[in-house]
Amino acid sequence: MKDENCIFCKIINKEIGSKILYEDNYSLAFLDIFPISKGHTIVIPKNHYKNIEDIPEKELIEVIITVKKIANKLHNKLNLEGYNILQNNFKAAGQVVEHCHFHIIPRTINDSRFRLKIPRERANDEELNDIINKIKS
Ligand code: AMP
Ligand code: ZN
Repeated sequence: MKDENCIFCKIINKEIGSKILYEDNYSLAFLDIFPISKGHTIVIPKNHYKNIEDIPEKELIEVIITVKKIANKLHNKLNLEGYNILQNNFKAAGQVVEHCHFHIIPRTINDSRFRLKIPRERANDEELNDIINKIKS
């Protein structure tokens, strides 16, 4: 399953070049060309699915196993202090390339490249219950 206009499908087909770290029957890992930090890696399924909702579970399992494998490798070989695994779905969440993918983003203590510490407020019980009711109904 390919989409001929998809940049990640073109990477899989080797129609455009990329720095491939790992490849198997189901997944591919390559370096991001606009890295947030050194070693920023993208892991994708070889079949074209737009987002996490579309990819069959069997293939998702294969992709997440590759994410773990590559995260471990980056950690050890690049001596990372830490890393975030990020997966954007739909435009509102920052997804630009519509081929399901995982980011592995290397981090160092106190780096300012990528912040997850966003000011938050304690939710009240009513709000949380409302969400629970909507999801479970
Ligand atoms: P997202 O915003 O989650 O859709 O992320 C897409 C990622 O793909 C971005 O971090 C881009 O820098 C990266 N990217 C786009 N085109 C290429 C490419 N040709 N080779 C490597 N990474 C790419
Ligand atoms: Zn694709």
